[in-house]
Amino acid sequence: MARVYNFSAGPAVLPEEVLLEAAAEMLDYAGSGMSVMEMSHRSKTYQKILDEAETDLRELMHIPENYKVLFLQGGASQQFAAIPMNLMKNKVADYIITGQWAKKAYEEAKKYGTANAIASSADKTFSYIPDCSDLPVSENADYVYICENNTIYGTKFKQLPNTKGKVLVSDVSSCFLSEPVDVTKYGILYGGVQKNIGPAGVVILIIREDLISDDVLPCTPTMLKYKIHADNGSLYNTPPAYGIYICGKVFKWLKKQGGLEAMKAYNEEKASVLYDFLDRSKLFKGTVRKEDRSLMNVPFVTGSEELDATFIKAATEAGFVNLKGHRTVGGMRASIYNAMPIEGVQKLVAFMEEFENLHS
Ligand SMILES: *Cc1c(COP(=O)(O)O)cnc(C)c1O
Repeated sequence: MARVYNFSAGPAVLPEEVLLEAAAEMLDYAGSGMSVMEMSHRSKTYQKILDEAETDLRELMHIPENYKVLFLQGGASQQFAAIPMNLMKNKVADYIITGQWAKKAYEEAKKYGTANAIASSADKTFSYIPDCSDLPVSENADYVYICENNTIYGTKFKQLPNTKGKVLVSDVSSCFLSEPVDVTKYGILYGGVQKNIGPAGVVILIIREDLISDDVLPCTPTMLKYKIHADNGSLYNTPPAYGIYICGKVFKWLKKQGGLEAMKAYNEEKASVLYDFLDRSKLFKGTVRKEDRSLMNVPFVTGSEELDATFIKAATEAGFVNLKGHRTVGGMRASIYNAMPIEGVQKLVAFMEEFENLHS
Protein backbone atom coordinates (compact mmCIF):
# COMPACT_ATOMS: atom_id res chain seq x y z
CA MET A 1 0.00 0.00 0.00
CA ALA A 2 1.37 3.40 -0.96
CA ARG A 3 -0.39 6.45 0.40
CA VAL A 4 0.52 9.75 -1.25
CA TYR A 5 0.53 13.24 0.21
CA ASN A 6 -2.75 14.49 -1.22
CA PHE A 7 -3.00 18.29 -1.49
CA SER A 8 -6.39 18.21 -3.25
CA ALA A 9 -8.78 21.10 -2.59
CA GLY A 10 -11.68 18.68 -2.41
CA PRO A 11 -12.65 15.93 -2.10
CA ALA A 12 -9.61 15.90 0.08
CA VAL A 13 -7.41 13.99 2.49
CA LEU A 14 -9.11 12.27 5.45
CA PRO A 15 -7.48 11.04 8.66
CA GLU A 16 -5.92 7.64 8.07
CA GLU A 17 -7.23 6.45 11.45
CA VAL A 18 -10.78 7.14 10.31
CA LEU A 19 -10.33 5.30 7.03
CA LEU A 20 -8.89 2.28 8.80
CA GLU A 21 -11.73 2.20 11.30
CA ALA A 22 -14.31 2.43 8.54
CA ALA A 23 -12.54 -0.39 6.69
CA ALA A 24 -12.59 -2.59 9.79
CA GLU A 25 -16.34 -1.97 10.20
CA MET A 26 -17.18 -2.42 6.52
CA LEU A 27 -18.78 -5.86 6.70
CA ASP A 28 -20.15 -5.80 10.23
CA TYR A 29 -20.90 -2.52 11.97
CA ALA A 30 -21.07 -2.92 15.76
CA GLY A 31 -22.41 -6.47 15.63
CA SER A 32 -25.24 -5.58 13.24
CA GLY A 33 -23.94 -8.03 10.65
CA MET A 34 -24.10 -5.39 7.96
CA SER A 35 -22.32 -2.31 6.66
CA VAL A 36 -23.65 1.15 7.56
CA MET A 37 -24.27 1.47 3.81
CA GLU A 38 -26.79 -1.36 3.97
CA MET A 39 -28.62 -0.19 7.07
CA SER A 40 -32.06 1.40 7.39
CA HIS A 41 -31.76 5.08 8.22
CA ARG A 42 -34.74 4.51 10.54
CA SER A 43 -32.98 1.81 12.57
CA LYS A 44 -31.92 2.32 16.20
CA THR A 45 -28.33 1.62 15.22
CA TYR A 46 -28.32 4.37 12.62
CA GLN A 47 -30.18 6.84 14.85
CA LYS A 48 -27.37 6.45 17.37
CA ILE A 49 -24.77 7.26 14.68
CA LEU A 50 -26.70 10.40 13.69
CA ASP A 51 -27.30 11.53 17.28
CA GLU A 52 -23.67 11.05 18.27
CA ALA A 53 -22.49 12.94 15.19
CA GLU A 54 -24.67 15.90 16.13
CA THR A 55 -23.69 15.79 19.82
CA ASP A 56 -19.98 15.66 19.00
CA LEU A 57 -20.26 18.50 16.48
CA ARG A 58 -22.17 20.63 19.01
CA GLU A 59 -19.47 19.97 21.57
CA LEU A 60 -16.61 20.75 19.16
CA MET A 61 -18.14 24.04 17.99
CA HIS A 62 -19.94 25.00 21.22
CA ILE A 63 -23.16 25.32 19.26
CA PRO A 64 -25.80 27.06 21.43
CA GLU A 65 -29.20 25.49 22.16
CA ASN A 66 -31.03 27.94 19.90
CA TYR A 67 -29.23 26.69 16.79
CA LYS A 68 -30.25 23.63 14.78
CA VAL A 69 -27.78 21.35 13.04
CA LEU A 70 -29.04 19.98 9.72
CA PHE A 71 -27.38 17.22 7.70
CA LEU A 72 -28.37 17.87 4.08
CA GLN A 73 -27.38 16.88 0.57
CA GLY A 74 -27.02 18.58 -2.80
CA GLY A 75 -23.60 20.07 -2.16
CA ALA A 76 -22.81 23.56 -0.97
CA SER A 77 -23.99 24.78 -4.38
CA GLN A 78 -27.60 23.81 -3.67
CA GLN A 79 -27.58 26.15 -0.68
CA PHE A 80 -26.90 29.05 -3.08
CA ALA A 81 -30.63 28.72 -3.94
CA ALA A 82 -31.96 27.38 -0.63
CA ILE A 83 -30.62 30.34 1.36
CA PRO A 84 -32.53 33.06 -0.56
CA MET A 85 -35.61 30.82 -0.77
CA ASN A 86 -35.73 30.42 3.00
CA LEU A 87 -34.46 33.82 4.10
CA MET A 88 -35.58 36.43 1.56
CA LYS A 89 -38.65 37.86 3.30
CA ASN A 90 -38.00 41.37 1.91
CA LYS A 91 -36.45 39.90 -1.23
CA VAL A 92 -33.21 41.79 -0.64
CA ALA A 93 -29.79 40.42 0.24
CA ASP A 94 -26.23 41.78 0.22
CA TYR A 95 -23.29 39.78 -1.05
CA ILE A 96 -19.56 40.27 -0.54
CA ILE A 97 -17.78 38.93 -3.59
CA THR A 98 -14.40 37.45 -2.69
CA GLY A 99 -14.19 34.75 -5.33
CA GLN A 100 -16.04 32.34 -7.54
CA TRP A 101 -18.08 30.63 -4.83
CA ALA A 102 -19.44 33.91 -3.49
CA LYS A 103 -20.10 35.06 -7.04
CA LYS A 104 -22.03 31.91 -7.88
CA ALA A 105 -24.13 32.30 -4.73
CA TYR A 106 -24.79 35.93 -5.68
CA GLU A 107 -25.81 35.06 -9.25
CA GLU A 108 -28.17 32.39 -7.94
CA ALA A 109 -29.77 34.74 -5.39
CA LYS A 110 -30.60 37.21 -8.19
CA LYS A 111 -33.20 34.71 -9.43
CA TYR A 112 -35.21 35.12 -6.24
CA GLY A 113 -34.91 38.79 -5.37
CA THR A 114 -32.60 41.75 -5.38
CA ALA A 115 -29.05 40.69 -4.66
CA ASN A 116 -26.56 43.53 -4.16
CA ALA A 117 -22.80 43.12 -4.46
CA ILE A 118 -21.75 45.51 -1.68
CA ALA A 119 -18.02 44.75 -1.85
CA SER A 120 -15.68 42.84 -4.14
CA SER A 121 -12.01 42.00 -4.56
CA ALA A 122 -12.37 41.16 -8.26
CA ASP A 123 -10.14 44.14 -9.17
CA LYS A 124 -7.05 42.21 -8.00
CA THR A 125 -8.08 38.68 -8.97
CA PHE A 126 -9.56 38.06 -5.51
CA SER A 127 -6.11 38.12 -3.90
CA TYR A 128 -7.35 39.98 -0.80
CA ILE A 129 -10.37 40.46 1.46
CA PRO A 130 -11.97 43.90 1.12
CA ASP A 131 -12.38 46.19 4.13
CA CYS A 132 -15.79 45.23 5.49
CA SER A 133 -15.93 47.50 8.52
CA ASP A 134 -18.35 50.05 7.06
CA LEU A 135 -20.14 48.71 4.00
CA PRO A 136 -23.32 50.13 2.44
CA VAL A 137 -25.50 47.38 3.93
CA SER A 138 -29.05 47.66 2.54
CA GLU A 139 -31.58 48.91 5.04
CA ASN A 140 -34.01 46.07 4.29
CA ALA A 141 -31.45 43.33 3.62
CA ASP A 142 -32.63 39.92 4.80
CA TYR A 143 -29.01 38.87 5.24
CA VAL A 144 -25.40 39.61 4.37
CA TYR A 145 -23.59 36.76 2.64
CA ILE A 146 -19.91 35.82 2.69
CA CYS A 147 -17.70 32.94 1.62
CA GLU A 148 -15.43 32.84 4.65
CA ASN A 149 -12.49 30.90 3.22
CA ASN A 150 -11.94 31.19 -0.50
CA THR A 151 -10.83 27.75 -1.57
CA ILE A 152 -9.71 28.78 -5.05
CA TYR A 153 -7.86 32.03 -4.22
CA GLY A 154 -6.55 31.16 -0.76
CA THR A 155 -7.97 34.11 1.19
CA LYS A 156 -9.81 34.05 4.52
CA PHE A 157 -11.87 36.57 6.45
CA LYS A 158 -9.83 37.14 9.65
CA GLN A 159 -12.56 39.42 10.89
CA LEU A 160 -16.23 39.00 10.11
CA PRO A 161 -17.87 41.88 8.25
CA ASN A 162 -19.82 44.53 10.11
CA THR A 163 -23.33 43.62 8.95
CA LYS A 164 -24.90 46.55 10.81
CA GLY A 165 -27.26 44.27 12.65
CA LYS A 166 -28.26 42.15 9.65
CA VAL A 167 -28.13 38.36 9.71
CA LEU A 168 -24.76 36.95 8.60
CA VAL A 169 -24.77 33.90 6.32
CA SER A 170 -21.41 32.23 5.76
CA ASP A 171 -20.15 29.48 3.47
CA VAL A 172 -17.45 27.78 5.57
CA SER A 173 -16.94 24.76 3.28
CA SER A 174 -13.16 24.97 3.19
CA CYS A 175 -12.49 26.14 6.76
CA PHE A 176 -15.11 24.06 8.61
CA LEU A 177 -13.65 22.88 11.96
CA SER A 178 -10.19 24.26 11.17
CA GLU A 179 -10.35 26.62 14.16
CA PRO A 180 -12.84 27.72 16.83
CA VAL A 181 -15.70 30.01 15.73
CA ASP A 182 -18.27 32.01 17.65
CA VAL A 183 -21.48 30.50 16.29
CA THR A 184 -23.60 33.29 17.84
CA LYS A 185 -22.19 35.75 15.28
CA TYR A 186 -23.95 33.90 12.45
CA GLY A 187 -27.50 33.35 11.33
CA ILE A 188 -26.37 30.45 9.16
CA LEU A 189 -23.01 28.81 8.67
CA TYR A 190 -22.83 25.91 6.31
CA GLY A 191 -20.52 23.91 4.13
CA GLY A 192 -20.02 20.91 1.94
CA VAL A 193 -18.04 18.42 4.02
CA GLN A 194 -15.78 17.14 1.26
CA LYS A 195 -13.13 19.80 1.93
CA ASN A 196 -12.31 19.41 5.58
CA ILE A 197 -14.65 16.86 7.18
CA GLY A 198 -15.78 13.87 5.18
CA PRO A 199 -16.90 12.36 1.88
CA ALA A 200 -18.75 14.39 -0.76
CA GLY A 201 -22.53 14.21 -0.54
CA VAL A 202 -23.11 15.77 2.88
CA VAL A 203 -23.76 19.42 3.66
CA ILE A 204 -23.85 20.57 7.27
CA LEU A 205 -25.95 23.65 7.96
CA ILE A 206 -26.05 25.33 11.36
CA ILE A 207 -28.96 27.74 11.61
CA ARG A 208 -30.41 30.00 14.30
CA GLU A 209 -33.88 28.70 15.17
CA ASP A 210 -35.76 31.94 14.56
CA LEU A 211 -34.67 31.84 10.91
CA ILE A 212 -36.52 28.56 10.38
CA SER A 213 -40.15 29.00 9.37
CA ASP A 214 -42.91 28.15 6.91
CA ASP A 215 -42.63 31.66 5.53
CA VAL A 216 -40.45 30.81 2.54
CA LEU A 217 -40.66 31.88 -1.11
CA PRO A 218 -43.68 30.14 -2.69
CA CYS A 219 -41.50 28.41 -5.28
CA THR A 220 -39.42 26.63 -2.63
CA PRO A 221 -39.26 22.85 -3.19
CA THR A 222 -40.09 20.81 -0.09
CA MET A 223 -36.57 19.37 -0.07
CA LEU A 224 -35.05 22.85 0.19
CA LYS A 225 -37.19 23.99 3.13
CA TYR A 226 -35.09 24.16 6.27
CA LYS A 227 -38.20 23.66 8.42
CA ILE A 228 -38.90 20.25 6.88
CA HIS A 229 -35.41 19.03 7.72
CA ALA A 230 -35.39 20.63 11.18
CA ASP A 231 -38.81 19.17 12.10
CA ASN A 232 -37.67 15.72 10.99
CA GLY A 233 -34.24 15.67 12.61
CA SER A 234 -32.51 15.50 9.20
CA LEU A 235 -34.54 12.34 8.43
CA TYR A 236 -37.32 13.73 6.23
CA ASN A 237 -36.05 11.44 3.51
CA THR A 238 -33.05 9.12 3.30
CA PRO A 239 -30.05 11.17 4.39
CA PRO A 240 -26.53 10.61 2.98
CA ALA A 241 -26.21 7.96 5.66
CA TYR A 242 -22.74 6.58 5.06
CA GLY A 243 -21.24 10.05 4.60
CA ILE A 244 -22.69 11.22 7.91
CA TYR A 245 -21.21 8.14 9.59
CA ILE A 246 -17.73 9.09 8.33
CA CYS A 247 -18.24 12.72 9.43
CA GLY A 248 -19.11 11.38 12.89
CA LYS A 249 -15.81 9.50 12.99
CA VAL A 250 -13.94 12.64 11.99
CA PHE A 251 -15.66 14.56 14.84
CA LYS A 252 -14.42 11.93 17.30
CA TRP A 253 -10.95 12.12 15.76
CA LEU A 254 -10.98 15.92 16.19
CA LYS A 255 -12.00 15.58 19.84
CA LYS A 256 -9.09 13.20 20.34
CA GLN A 257 -6.71 15.74 18.78
CA GLY A 258 -7.78 18.20 21.48
CA GLY A 259 -10.66 19.97 19.72
CA LEU A 260 -10.66 23.11 17.61
CA GLU A 261 -8.20 25.14 19.74
CA ALA A 262 -5.61 22.41 19.21
CA MET A 263 -6.48 22.15 15.50
CA LYS A 264 -6.00 25.89 15.11
CA ALA A 265 -2.53 25.75 16.70
CA TYR A 266 -1.60 22.77 14.53
CA ASN A 267 -2.97 24.38 11.36
CA GLU A 268 -1.10 27.62 12.07
CA GLU A 269 2.15 25.76 12.59
CA LYS A 270 1.57 23.74 9.42
CA ALA A 271 0.70 26.76 7.27
CA SER A 272 3.67 28.77 8.54
CA VAL A 273 6.06 26.04 7.34
CA LEU A 274 4.83 26.70 3.81
CA TYR A 275 4.27 30.47 4.02
CA ASP A 276 7.69 31.07 5.63
CA PHE A 277 9.28 29.19 2.77
CA LEU A 278 7.29 31.14 0.15
CA ASP A 279 8.40 34.40 1.79
CA ARG A 280 12.09 33.52 1.56
CA SER A 281 12.05 31.64 -1.76
CA LYS A 282 13.50 33.31 -4.84
CA LEU A 283 11.50 31.07 -7.17
CA PHE A 284 8.11 30.43 -5.54
CA LYS A 285 5.76 33.26 -4.57
CA GLY A 286 2.50 33.29 -2.66
CA THR A 287 -0.31 35.09 -4.52
CA VAL A 288 -2.35 36.42 -1.58
CA ARG A 289 -2.01 39.58 0.53
CA LYS A 290 -0.26 38.44 3.71
CA GLU A 291 -2.88 39.47 6.24
CA ASP A 292 -5.62 37.62 4.34
CA ARG A 293 -3.85 34.28 3.90
CA SER A 294 -5.89 31.13 4.42
CA LEU A 295 -4.64 28.40 6.74
CA MET A 296 -6.22 25.80 4.47
CA ASN A 297 -5.55 26.68 0.81
CA VAL A 298 -2.17 28.03 -0.24
CA PRO A 299 -1.81 29.16 -3.87
CA PHE A 300 1.63 29.94 -5.26
CA VAL A 301 3.41 30.48 -8.59
CA THR A 302 6.90 30.51 -10.05
CA GLY A 303 6.10 33.27 -12.51
CA SER A 304 6.54 30.95 -15.48
CA GLU A 305 3.69 28.72 -16.65
CA GLU A 306 6.21 26.32 -18.13
CA LEU A 307 8.12 26.00 -14.86
CA ASP A 308 4.85 25.60 -12.95
CA ALA A 309 3.99 22.63 -15.17
CA THR A 310 7.47 21.12 -14.72
CA PHE A 311 7.14 21.50 -10.96
CA ILE A 312 3.68 19.90 -10.81
CA LYS A 313 4.86 16.95 -12.85
CA ALA A 314 8.00 16.41 -10.75
CA ALA A 315 6.03 16.78 -7.51
CA THR A 316 3.45 14.23 -8.64
CA GLU A 317 6.20 11.74 -9.44
CA ALA A 318 7.63 12.30 -5.96
CA GLY A 319 4.28 11.52 -4.30
CA PHE A 320 2.96 15.08 -3.72
CA VAL A 321 -0.27 15.00 -5.69
CA ASN A 322 -3.07 17.39 -6.70
CA LEU A 323 -0.92 20.51 -6.49
CA LYS A 324 -2.21 22.02 -9.72
CA GLY A 325 -3.98 25.33 -9.13
CA HIS A 326 -7.66 25.78 -9.96
CA ARG A 327 -8.28 25.69 -13.70
CA THR A 328 -9.30 29.38 -13.65
CA VAL A 329 -6.21 30.58 -11.77
CA GLY A 330 -3.29 28.41 -12.88
CA GLY A 331 -0.08 27.98 -10.89
CA MET A 332 -0.10 25.73 -7.85
CA ARG A 333 -2.26 25.34 -4.79
CA ALA A 334 -1.53 23.22 -1.73
CA SER A 335 -4.63 22.49 0.31
CA ILE A 336 -3.49 21.59 3.80
CA TYR A 337 -6.68 20.66 5.60
CA ASN A 338 -6.96 19.25 9.15
CA ALA A 339 -6.03 15.73 8.07
CA MET A 340 -2.80 16.73 6.27
CA PRO A 341 0.02 15.85 8.67
CA ILE A 342 2.73 18.48 9.22
CA GLU A 343 5.29 15.99 7.85
CA GLY A 344 3.51 16.26 4.50
CA VAL A 345 4.06 20.02 4.42
CA GLN A 346 7.66 19.78 5.66
CA LYS A 347 8.48 17.22 2.98
CA LEU A 348 6.76 19.33 0.31
CA VAL A 349 8.85 22.35 1.32
CA ALA A 350 12.04 20.28 1.23
CA PHE A 351 11.06 19.15 -2.27
CA MET A 352 10.36 22.75 -3.34
CA GLU A 353 13.77 23.84 -2.01
CA GLU A 354 15.46 21.14 -3.99
CA PHE A 355 13.51 22.11 -7.11
CA GLU A 356 14.46 25.75 -6.60
CA ASN A 357 18.16 24.92 -6.35
CA LEU A 358 17.93 22.88 -9.51
CA HIS A 359 16.13 25.60 -11.49
CA SER A 360 17.82 28.84 -10.47
C1 LIG B 1 -16.17 23.41 -2.98
C2 LIG B 1 -16.88 24.62 -2.54
C3 LIG B 1 -18.21 24.85 -2.88
C4 LIG B 1 -19.01 23.92 -3.78
O1 LIG B 1 -19.28 22.75 -3.14
P1 LIG B 1 -20.19 21.61 -3.83
O2 LIG B 1 -20.43 20.69 -2.68
O3 LIG B 1 -19.37 21.02 -4.92
O4 LIG B 1 -21.41 22.25 -4.33
C5 LIG B 1 -18.83 25.97 -2.38
N1 LIG B 1 -18.17 26.83 -1.59
C6 LIG B 1 -16.88 26.64 -1.24
C7 LIG B 1 -16.20 27.63 -0.36
C8 LIG B 1 -16.20 25.53 -1.71
O5 LIG B 1 -14.92 25.35 -1.37
